[in-house]
Amino acid sequence: MSRDRLAKTRRLVVKVGSQLIRGQGLEVGRLKSLAKQLGQLKRGGRDCLLVSSGAVALGYKRLGLLERPTSLRLKQASAAAGQVALMMAWEKALEAYGLKAAQILLTAEDLADRGRFLNAKNTFMALLELGVIPVVNENDTVAVEELKVGDNDTLGSLVASLCEADLFVNLTDQDGLFEADPKKEPQAALIDEVPLVTPAILALAGGSSGPLGTGGMFTKVRAAGRLSERGVPSLIANGLTRDILIRLLAGEKLGTYFPPSEKRRGAYKHWLAFAARPRGRLIVDAGAALAVRDKGKSLLPGGVAGVEGLFAAGDAVSIAQLDQEPFGVGLVNYSSPEVGRIMGLSSHQIEERLGYSHSEEIIHRDNLVVFPNPWIPIANQE
Ligand code: GLU
Repeated sequence: MSRDRLAKTRRLVVKVGSQLIRGQGLEVGRLKSLAKQLGQLKRGGRDCLLVSSGAVALGYKRLGLLERPTSLRLKQASAAAGQVALMMAWEKALEAYGLKAAQILLTAEDLADRGRFLNAKNTFMALLELGVIPVVNENDTVAVEELKVGDNDTLGSLVASLCEADLFVNLTDQDGLFEADPKKEPQAALIDEVPLVTPAILALAGGSSGPLGTGGMFTKVRAAGRLSERGVPSLIANGLTRDILIRLLAGEKLGTYFPPSEKRRGAYKHWLAFAARPRGRLIVDAGAALAVRDKGKSLLPGGVAGVEGLFAAGDAVSIAQLDQEPFGVGLVNYSSPEVGRIMGLSSHQIEERLGYSHSEEIIHRDNLVVFPNPWIPIANQE
Protein backbone atom coordinates (compact mmCIF):
# COMPACT_ATOMS: atom_id res chain seq x y z
CA MET A 1 0.00 0.00 0.00
CA SER A 2 1.51 3.30 -1.02
CA ARG A 3 1.14 6.65 0.68
CA ASP A 4 -1.55 7.72 -1.83
CA ARG A 5 -4.01 5.59 0.07
CA LEU A 6 -3.51 7.65 3.24
CA ALA A 7 -6.01 10.19 1.94
CA LYS A 8 -8.67 7.52 2.41
CA THR A 9 -7.96 7.16 6.15
CA ARG A 10 -11.20 6.88 8.15
CA ARG A 11 -9.85 6.65 11.67
CA LEU A 12 -6.44 7.73 12.90
CA VAL A 13 -4.57 7.62 16.16
CA VAL A 14 -2.09 10.46 16.63
CA LYS A 15 0.53 10.03 19.31
CA VAL A 16 2.19 13.18 20.58
CA GLY A 17 5.50 12.77 22.42
CA SER A 18 6.60 14.58 25.58
CA GLN A 19 9.22 16.61 23.70
CA LEU A 20 6.43 18.23 21.68
CA ILE A 21 4.27 18.95 24.69
CA ARG A 22 6.91 20.57 26.81
CA GLY A 23 9.67 22.85 25.57
CA GLN A 24 10.63 25.60 27.95
CA GLY A 25 7.08 25.32 29.27
CA LEU A 26 3.83 23.87 28.04
CA GLU A 27 3.82 24.35 24.26
CA VAL A 28 0.35 25.85 23.99
CA GLY A 29 0.84 27.05 20.41
CA ARG A 30 1.87 23.58 19.24
CA LEU A 31 -1.16 21.95 20.82
CA LYS A 32 -3.35 24.56 19.18
CA SER A 33 -1.84 23.91 15.80
CA LEU A 34 -2.40 20.15 16.17
CA ALA A 35 -5.94 20.74 17.40
CA LYS A 36 -6.61 22.89 14.36
CA GLN A 37 -5.44 20.13 12.06
CA LEU A 38 -7.49 17.54 13.93
CA GLY A 39 -10.52 19.80 13.50
CA GLN A 40 -9.91 19.90 9.77
CA LEU A 41 -9.50 16.12 9.56
CA LYS A 42 -12.60 15.60 11.66
CA ARG A 43 -14.67 17.86 9.44
CA GLY A 44 -13.43 15.73 6.55
CA GLY A 45 -15.33 12.83 8.17
CA ARG A 46 -12.46 11.15 10.00
CA ASP A 47 -12.44 9.84 13.55
CA CYS A 48 -9.43 11.11 15.46
CA LEU A 49 -7.87 9.85 18.67
CA LEU A 50 -4.95 11.30 20.55
CA VAL A 51 -2.41 9.46 22.65
CA SER A 52 -0.62 12.19 24.53
CA SER A 53 2.50 11.91 26.64
CA GLY A 54 3.70 14.74 28.79
CA ALA A 55 2.14 14.07 32.18
CA VAL A 56 5.45 13.34 33.89
CA ALA A 57 7.30 16.00 31.88
CA LEU A 58 4.79 18.69 32.92
CA GLY A 59 4.18 17.36 36.39
CA TYR A 60 7.67 17.38 37.84
CA LYS A 61 8.05 21.07 37.05
CA ARG A 62 4.72 21.80 38.68
CA LEU A 63 5.91 19.98 41.77
CA GLY A 64 9.07 22.07 41.87
CA LEU A 65 11.46 19.21 40.98
CA LEU A 66 14.50 20.20 38.95
CA GLU A 67 14.67 17.23 36.61
CA ARG A 68 12.60 14.30 35.46
CA PRO A 69 12.47 11.98 38.48
CA THR A 70 13.72 8.41 38.29
CA SER A 71 12.10 7.00 41.42
CA LEU A 72 8.69 5.39 40.98
CA ARG A 73 6.91 7.39 43.66
CA LEU A 74 8.07 10.74 42.33
CA LYS A 75 7.25 9.72 38.77
CA GLN A 76 3.78 8.72 39.90
CA ALA A 77 3.35 11.97 41.80
CA SER A 78 4.56 13.93 38.78
CA ALA A 79 2.17 12.09 36.48
CA ALA A 80 -0.73 12.87 38.81
CA ALA A 81 0.11 16.56 38.87
CA GLY A 82 0.98 16.77 35.18
CA GLN A 83 -2.01 14.88 33.81
CA VAL A 84 -4.32 17.67 34.99
CA ALA A 85 -2.30 20.32 33.20
CA LEU A 86 -2.02 18.13 30.12
CA MET A 87 -5.76 17.56 29.89
CA MET A 88 -6.60 21.17 30.56
CA ALA A 89 -4.28 22.17 27.74
CA TRP A 90 -5.81 19.69 25.27
CA GLU A 91 -9.32 20.59 26.33
CA LYS A 92 -8.64 24.26 25.69
CA ALA A 93 -6.81 23.70 22.42
CA LEU A 94 -9.46 21.36 21.03
CA GLU A 95 -12.33 23.53 22.22
CA ALA A 96 -10.97 26.46 20.22
CA TYR A 97 -11.68 24.41 17.10
CA GLY A 98 -15.08 23.16 18.14
CA LEU A 99 -13.82 19.76 19.36
CA LYS A 100 -14.62 17.99 22.59
CA ALA A 101 -11.96 16.07 24.51
CA ALA A 102 -12.45 13.04 26.76
CA GLN A 103 -9.72 11.58 28.94
CA ILE A 104 -8.97 7.86 28.95
CA LEU A 105 -6.25 6.56 31.27
CA LEU A 106 -5.28 2.94 30.74
CA THR A 107 -3.08 0.45 32.55
CA ALA A 108 -1.40 -2.60 31.04
CA GLU A 109 -3.86 -4.76 32.99
CA ASP A 110 -6.82 -3.03 31.34
CA LEU A 111 -5.42 -4.14 28.02
CA ALA A 112 -4.19 -7.59 29.10
CA ASP A 113 -7.54 -8.74 30.43
CA ARG A 114 -9.78 -9.57 27.49
CA GLY A 115 -12.96 -8.47 29.29
CA ARG A 116 -11.53 -5.13 30.34
CA PHE A 117 -9.99 -4.67 26.92
CA LEU A 118 -13.38 -5.09 25.24
CA ASN A 119 -14.96 -2.83 27.82
CA ALA A 120 -12.42 -0.11 27.01
CA LYS A 121 -13.18 -0.64 23.34
CA ASN A 122 -16.88 0.02 23.97
CA THR A 123 -16.03 3.29 25.67
CA PHE A 124 -13.81 4.35 22.78
CA MET A 125 -16.50 3.48 20.27
CA ALA A 126 -19.16 5.42 22.19
CA LEU A 127 -16.92 8.49 22.33
CA LEU A 128 -16.14 8.31 18.64
CA GLU A 129 -19.82 7.96 17.79
CA LEU A 130 -20.47 11.06 19.85
CA GLY A 131 -17.86 12.92 17.85
CA VAL A 132 -15.50 13.33 20.78
CA ILE A 133 -11.69 13.13 20.63
CA PRO A 134 -10.43 10.57 23.17
CA VAL A 135 -7.16 11.74 24.70
CA VAL A 136 -5.33 8.69 26.02
CA ASN A 137 -2.39 8.22 28.35
CA GLU A 138 -1.11 5.44 30.51
CA ASN A 139 -2.44 5.65 34.06
CA ASP A 140 1.07 6.31 35.35
CA THR A 141 -0.11 7.23 38.81
CA VAL A 142 -1.19 3.72 39.70
CA ALA A 143 0.87 1.57 37.33
CA VAL A 144 3.91 0.01 38.94
CA GLU A 145 7.04 -0.30 36.86
CA GLU A 146 6.99 -4.01 36.12
CA LEU A 147 3.31 -3.97 35.19
CA LYS A 148 3.41 -1.06 32.81
CA VAL A 149 2.90 -0.76 29.10
CA GLY A 150 5.89 1.49 29.70
CA ASP A 151 5.87 3.86 26.77
CA ASN A 152 3.24 5.62 24.74
CA ASP A 153 4.50 4.31 21.39
CA THR A 154 3.47 0.83 22.48
CA LEU A 155 0.30 2.17 24.11
CA GLY A 156 -0.53 4.06 20.90
CA SER A 157 -0.15 0.92 18.80
CA LEU A 158 -2.42 -1.03 21.18
CA VAL A 159 -5.02 1.74 21.07
CA ALA A 160 -4.83 1.84 17.26
CA SER A 161 -5.45 -1.89 17.12
CA LEU A 162 -8.20 -1.79 19.73
CA CYS A 163 -10.07 1.00 17.94
CA GLU A 164 -9.58 -0.58 14.52
CA ALA A 165 -7.82 2.57 13.33
CA ASP A 166 -6.51 2.54 9.79
CA LEU A 167 -3.55 4.81 10.49
CA PHE A 168 -1.14 5.48 13.35
CA VAL A 169 0.78 8.75 13.23
CA ASN A 170 3.59 8.94 15.74
CA LEU A 171 4.67 12.57 16.14
CA THR A 172 8.03 13.33 17.67
CA ASP A 173 10.68 16.04 17.43
CA GLN A 174 12.65 14.26 14.71
CA ASP A 175 11.84 13.97 11.02
CA GLY A 176 11.54 10.19 11.18
CA LEU A 177 13.93 7.24 11.09
CA PHE A 178 17.38 7.99 9.69
CA GLU A 179 19.97 5.70 8.14
CA ALA A 180 22.23 6.54 11.07
CA ASP A 181 21.74 8.45 14.31
CA PRO A 182 21.44 12.07 13.07
CA LYS A 183 22.81 13.36 16.37
CA LYS A 184 26.09 11.57 15.65
CA GLU A 185 26.00 11.76 11.85
CA PRO A 186 24.31 14.96 10.71
CA GLN A 187 24.57 13.90 7.05
CA ALA A 188 22.52 10.73 7.60
CA ALA A 189 19.58 10.39 5.22
CA LEU A 190 15.97 10.10 6.28
CA ILE A 191 14.37 6.76 5.38
CA ASP A 192 11.22 7.41 3.42
CA GLU A 193 9.69 3.97 3.72
CA VAL A 194 10.32 0.79 5.73
CA PRO A 195 8.63 -2.13 3.95
CA LEU A 196 9.48 -4.56 6.78
CA VAL A 197 10.78 -4.03 10.29
CA THR A 198 13.83 -6.29 10.46
CA PRO A 199 16.52 -6.67 13.14
CA ALA A 200 18.73 -4.33 11.09
CA ILE A 201 16.02 -1.65 11.10
CA LEU A 202 15.48 -2.05 14.83
CA ALA A 203 19.22 -1.77 15.38
CA LEU A 204 19.19 1.50 13.44
CA ALA A 205 16.54 2.79 15.78
CA GLY A 206 18.82 2.05 18.74
CA GLY A 207 17.60 2.41 22.28
CA SER A 208 17.97 6.10 22.84
CA SER A 209 15.22 8.29 24.23
CA GLY A 210 15.02 12.02 24.74
CA PRO A 211 15.43 13.71 28.11
CA LEU A 212 11.66 14.02 28.65
CA GLY A 213 9.97 10.92 27.27
CA THR A 214 10.39 7.22 27.77
CA GLY A 215 10.47 5.41 24.47
CA GLY A 216 12.92 6.71 21.90
CA MET A 217 13.12 5.57 18.29
CA PHE A 218 13.32 1.86 19.14
CA THR A 219 9.83 1.66 20.64
CA LYS A 220 8.48 3.78 17.79
CA VAL A 221 9.82 1.45 15.14
CA ARG A 222 8.74 -1.64 17.09
CA ALA A 223 5.22 -0.21 17.46
CA ALA A 224 5.11 0.45 13.72
CA GLY A 225 6.31 -3.10 13.00
CA ARG A 226 3.63 -4.60 15.20
CA LEU A 227 0.91 -2.52 13.60
CA SER A 228 2.14 -3.42 10.16
CA GLU A 229 1.50 -7.08 11.05
CA ARG A 230 -1.96 -6.04 12.14
CA GLY A 231 -2.53 -4.51 8.70
CA VAL A 232 -2.33 -0.91 9.88
CA PRO A 233 0.09 1.59 8.30
CA SER A 234 2.14 3.92 10.52
CA LEU A 235 4.10 7.11 10.11
CA ILE A 236 6.84 8.50 12.31
CA ALA A 237 7.05 12.21 11.63
CA ASN A 238 8.08 15.56 13.01
CA GLY A 239 5.36 17.29 15.00
CA LEU A 240 7.24 20.58 14.58
CA THR A 241 6.65 20.60 10.82
CA ARG A 242 3.89 22.97 9.74
CA ASP A 243 0.54 21.30 8.98
CA ILE A 244 2.17 17.91 9.40
CA LEU A 245 -1.03 15.88 9.80
CA ILE A 246 -2.79 17.47 6.85
CA ARG A 247 0.25 17.05 4.64
CA LEU A 248 0.86 13.44 5.65
CA LEU A 249 -2.72 12.51 4.91
CA ALA A 250 -2.44 14.23 1.55
CA GLY A 251 0.33 11.74 0.76
CA GLU A 252 3.24 14.19 0.99
CA LYS A 253 6.57 12.45 1.51
CA LEU A 254 7.36 13.54 5.03
CA GLY A 255 8.53 11.34 7.87
CA THR A 256 9.05 7.58 7.62
CA TYR A 257 6.23 5.44 6.33
CA PHE A 258 5.60 1.83 7.41
CA PRO A 259 3.10 0.20 5.06
CA PRO A 260 0.81 -2.55 6.35
CA SER A 261 1.85 -6.12 5.70
CA GLU A 262 -0.27 -7.97 3.16
CA LYS A 263 -1.04 -10.72 5.62
CA ARG A 264 -3.16 -8.93 8.16
CA ARG A 265 -3.41 -10.29 11.68
CA GLY A 266 -6.88 -10.08 13.23
CA ALA A 267 -7.72 -7.97 16.28
CA TYR A 268 -7.97 -10.96 18.60
CA LYS A 269 -4.61 -12.40 17.62
CA HIS A 270 -2.98 -8.99 17.86
CA TRP A 271 -4.34 -8.64 21.37
CA LEU A 272 -3.05 -12.10 22.21
CA ALA A 273 0.41 -11.35 20.84
CA PHE A 274 0.97 -7.88 22.26
CA ALA A 275 -1.53 -7.00 24.98
CA ALA A 276 -2.17 -10.27 26.82
CA ARG A 277 0.28 -10.82 29.64
CA PRO A 278 1.75 -14.31 29.80
CA ARG A 279 1.57 -15.82 33.28
CA GLY A 280 3.90 -18.67 32.56
CA ARG A 281 5.74 -20.57 29.90
CA LEU A 282 5.32 -23.94 28.26
CA ILE A 283 8.47 -25.68 27.09
CA VAL A 284 7.77 -27.77 24.02
CA ASP A 285 9.83 -30.40 22.23
CA ALA A 286 11.14 -30.02 18.69
CA GLY A 287 8.25 -31.96 17.16
CA ALA A 288 5.63 -29.77 18.80
CA ALA A 289 7.56 -26.63 17.87
CA LEU A 290 7.47 -27.72 14.25
CA ALA A 291 3.76 -28.53 14.37
CA VAL A 292 2.73 -25.35 16.20
CA ARG A 293 5.16 -22.82 14.77
CA ASP A 294 5.47 -24.00 11.21
CA LYS A 295 2.28 -25.89 10.52
CA GLY A 296 -0.30 -23.89 12.47
CA LYS A 297 -1.37 -26.85 14.62
CA SER A 298 -2.78 -26.82 18.16
CA LEU A 299 -0.46 -27.66 21.06
CA LEU A 300 -1.20 -31.13 22.43
CA PRO A 301 -0.05 -32.48 25.82
CA GLY A 302 2.31 -34.92 24.13
CA GLY A 303 4.54 -32.10 22.89
CA VAL A 304 4.88 -30.33 26.22
CA ALA A 305 8.15 -31.05 27.98
CA GLY A 306 8.03 -28.55 30.81
CA VAL A 307 5.90 -25.97 32.53
CA GLU A 308 7.05 -22.78 34.24
CA GLY A 309 5.05 -20.36 36.36
CA LEU A 310 1.66 -20.55 38.02
CA PHE A 311 -1.36 -20.05 35.81
CA ALA A 312 -5.03 -20.92 35.62
CA ALA A 313 -7.01 -22.29 32.69
CA GLY A 314 -7.77 -19.39 30.35
CA ASP A 315 -4.55 -17.49 31.15
CA ALA A 316 -2.04 -16.49 28.52
CA VAL A 317 1.26 -18.36 28.46
CA SER A 318 4.22 -18.13 26.15
CA ILE A 319 5.56 -21.10 24.21
CA ALA A 320 9.24 -21.82 23.76
CA GLN A 321 11.73 -24.58 23.14
CA LEU A 322 14.17 -25.24 25.94
CA ASP A 323 16.65 -22.37 26.40
CA GLN A 324 15.17 -20.40 23.52
CA GLU A 325 13.15 -17.22 23.20
CA PRO A 326 9.37 -17.76 23.05
CA PHE A 327 8.03 -18.16 19.54
CA GLY A 328 4.38 -17.72 20.38
CA VAL A 329 1.72 -17.16 22.97
CA GLY A 330 -1.68 -18.71 23.62
CA LEU A 331 -4.51 -19.17 26.07
CA VAL A 332 -4.22 -22.46 27.93
CA ASN A 333 -7.08 -24.88 28.52
CA TYR A 334 -5.51 -26.30 31.67
CA SER A 335 -3.92 -24.79 34.79
CA SER A 336 -0.19 -25.16 35.47
CA PRO A 337 -0.65 -28.05 37.98
CA GLU A 338 -2.88 -29.81 35.46
CA VAL A 339 -0.40 -29.31 32.63
CA GLY A 340 2.29 -30.68 34.93
CA ARG A 341 0.29 -33.88 35.30
CA ILE A 342 -0.72 -34.41 31.68
CA MET A 343 2.35 -33.27 29.79
CA GLY A 344 3.89 -35.97 27.65
CA LEU A 345 0.62 -37.92 27.45
CA SER A 346 -1.52 -38.38 24.40
CA SER A 347 -4.83 -36.56 24.45
CA HIS A 348 -6.94 -39.64 25.10
CA GLN A 349 -5.02 -40.26 28.32
CA ILE A 350 -5.99 -36.90 29.85
CA GLU A 351 -9.20 -38.18 31.37
CA GLU A 352 -7.52 -41.23 32.80
CA ARG A 353 -4.90 -39.04 34.52
CA LEU A 354 -7.08 -36.13 35.70
CA GLY A 355 -10.43 -37.84 36.04
CA TYR A 356 -11.88 -35.38 33.51
CA SER A 357 -10.97 -33.81 30.21
CA HIS A 358 -12.37 -30.55 28.96
CA SER A 359 -10.33 -30.43 25.79
CA GLU A 360 -7.84 -32.44 23.80
CA GLU A 361 -5.44 -29.57 23.36
CA ILE A 362 -3.34 -27.68 25.86
CA ILE A 363 -3.77 -24.66 23.59
CA HIS A 364 -6.15 -24.65 20.66
CA ARG A 365 -4.76 -23.14 17.46
CA ASP A 366 -7.57 -20.52 17.45
CA ASN A 367 -6.19 -19.20 20.74
CA LEU A 368 -2.56 -19.32 19.71
CA VAL A 369 -0.36 -16.89 17.88
CA VAL A 370 3.06 -17.49 16.48
CA PHE A 371 5.27 -14.48 15.95
CA PRO A 372 6.03 -14.33 12.24
CA ASN A 373 8.58 -11.73 13.14
CA PRO A 374 10.51 -13.22 16.03
CA TRP A 375 12.46 -10.00 16.43
CA ILE A 376 9.27 -8.21 17.52
CA PRO A 377 8.62 -10.47 20.47
CA ILE A 378 6.10 -10.08 23.21
CA ALA A 379 7.09 -7.14 25.34
CA ASN A 380 5.16 -8.22 28.36
CA GLN A 381 6.75 -10.00 31.22
CA GLU A 382 5.77 -13.44 32.27
N1 GLU B 1 2.90 8.36 30.02
C1 GLU B 1 4.05 9.20 30.11
C2 GLU B 1 3.67 10.62 30.39
O1 GLU B 1 2.60 11.05 30.08
C3 GLU B 1 4.87 9.23 28.84
C4 GLU B 1 5.34 7.89 28.36
C5 GLU B 1 6.26 8.10 27.15
O2 GLU B 1 7.03 9.06 27.10
O3 GLU B 1 6.20 7.27 26.24
O4 GLU B 1 4.46 11.36 30.92
